[in-house]
Amino acid sequence: MSKPNDIATNLRAVRNRIARAAEAAHRPVDSIQLLAVSKRQSVEAIGAALSAGQRAFGESYLQEALAKMTALGEADIEWHFIGPLQSNKTKGVAEAFDWVHSLDRLSLAQRLSRQRPPDRPPLNVCVQVNISGEASKSGVTVEALPELLAEAAVLPGLHLRGLMAIPKPQPEPRRQHEPFQRMRELFDTMNTRGYALDTLSMGMSGDLEAAIAAGATLVRVGTAIFGSRD
Ligand SMILES: *Cc1c(COP(=O)(O)O)cnc(C)c1O
Repeated sequence: MSKPNDIATNLRAVRNRIARAAEAAHRPVDSIQLLAVSKRQSVEAIGAALSAGQRAFGESYLQEALAKMTALGEADIEWHFIGPLQSNKTKGVAEAFDWVHSLDRLSLAQRLSRQRPPDRPPLNVCVQVNISGEASKSGVTVEALPELLAEAAVLPGLHLRGLMAIPKPQPEPRRQHEPFQRMRELFDTMNTRGYALDTLSMGMSGDLEAAIAAGATLVRVGTAIFGSRD
């Protein structure tokens, strides 16, 4: 884990990477949001990032996230759930989070919609696409995406915002582009079909430049901000 000073420095460096990638892609820098992935990082580490101006945080494990939310109390944080979603977790997620990036099944969409407290705005959701076609990975297949989008779009407790992907890790930059490009094409195709999707959630510490080149509007960055998770 990194010290507070390191976290502020790392955040600046990540924001610079985003700005350079945006410029290279001829995109406005404010068209790309930074989600700080704080899973398995301490409350103190989140506090350091907050002090450095970061507002959106991503968590993968419900119990861990709920404990952090309690500890951080009234801090002005936008919480994003990015971990694998299971039916026994939907209630806690629907009650405590502002966003979910990992929706990949109709049954989960229905539960989240039903369990979203009526006094809160609809839950922002991205549908996760298994873009690399990995058998072991979560995410809806490209083939099944249109049906899930159609079904999720009409649920009253959800606000369908976009698509999310975690392509197979690819250390070689020139090989990172292809899956991101396919996600961009899917995103555009779905918008031509009438969805008003505004969020393309893709790109992490090791591949955010390639994701931004392809059109990512939100990058999810953990280790480049907080250091290793061990
Ligand atoms: C952990 C995680 C990240 C952040 O990964 P880093 O390589 O640490 O930047 C992004 N997205 C998801 C879904 C994750 O689980």
